Amino acid sequence: MIQLYIPLNFLGVIYREIKQSLADMDRMFLLLETEREVADRPEAQPLHVRGGAVRFSHVEFSYEANRQILFDVDFAVPAGTTTAVVGHSGSGKSTLARLLFRFYDVSGGAILIDGQDLRDVTQASLRGAIGIVPQDTVLFNDSIYYNIAYGRPEASREEVIAAAKAAQIHQFVSELPEGYDTPVGERGLKLSGGEKQRVAIARTLLKNPPILIFDEATSALDSRTEQAIQAELMRLAETRTTLVIAHRLSTVVQADQILVLDHGRIVERGTHEALMRLDGKYAEMWRIQARDASAATVGAD
Ligand code: ADP
Ligand code: MG
Repeated sequence: MIQLYIPLNFLGVIYREIKQSLADMDRMFLLLETEREVADRPEAQPLHVRGGAVRFSHVEFSYEANRQILFDVDFAVPAGTTTAVVGHSGSGKSTLARLLFRFYDVSGGAILIDGQDLRDVTQASLRGAIGIVPQDTVLFNDSIYYNIAYGRPEASREEVIAAAKAAQIHQFVSELPEGYDTPVGERGLKLSGGEKQRVAIARTLLKNPPILIFDEATSALDSRTEQAIQAELMRLAETRTTLVIAHRLSTVVQADQILVLDHGRIVERGTHEALMRLDGKYAEMWRIQARDASAATVGAD
């Protein structure tokens, strides 16, 4: 019995080690994937965030030659304020978020944070200063705990759980047989889009960065969960520089500034009230969405 037990246990250890190194390789490829596009300059300095003012200065961008995506995109997000970006699918909204996180370098113009060109600072410092809740969250092949704590690895267990509670995912996690130790990702528990997004929100709440990017951050959530999280995100955004990309116009009404993006160009900008008065594209989008929303409400419940 003992003879049989030891080799099996030994195999178990090896298996876990192999599994771990596969997971680490995933992580490495994930990094390589993004590092391939951009690299630190030899003289790159750490980003010094003062207020976290963001400036897109005449930005041009193409993923591939012969197909330009952004044209002369020029706007400022003053420190501590919220700018919302709206526009039809494919207009370039997520691209703005990717450029601010420097997944890619601009093809023309510049992006600055507190006056520092993103290309002159280290990526580690840049990514440390920005919290991003992307449209499609990719989870690591690790525990749900790891996936949240990744936002700030030195955080205490209490802080991780507090972030999970604020992101409305704690209840769900508590009901899993292995709780926070449940493996998630490709080789673990498959989470729904909404659950993954809540993990990403918890990660960001824990990281507590000076600059936030929400890319349709609550799009995969049901409306009750969305409302609860929205309140949390608003609270977080209040004192931070925030770029919100939203399909649902109800989430952008409060923004200090709204940009309407159309085929890679800013075609309207202003507050909700100003844009409604302008009675242009934004007002039209608003009317269509309000109509669809009331139709949906009639159909639901
Ligand atoms: P939005 O978020 O407003 O829906 P995106 O910024 O995701 O739009 O995309 C803008 C345009 O860029 C789209 O035409 C899309 O097909 C294209 N695009 C997005 N990602 C890539 C990529 N990795 N390579 C090539 N084209 C891309
Ligand atoms: Mg998008």
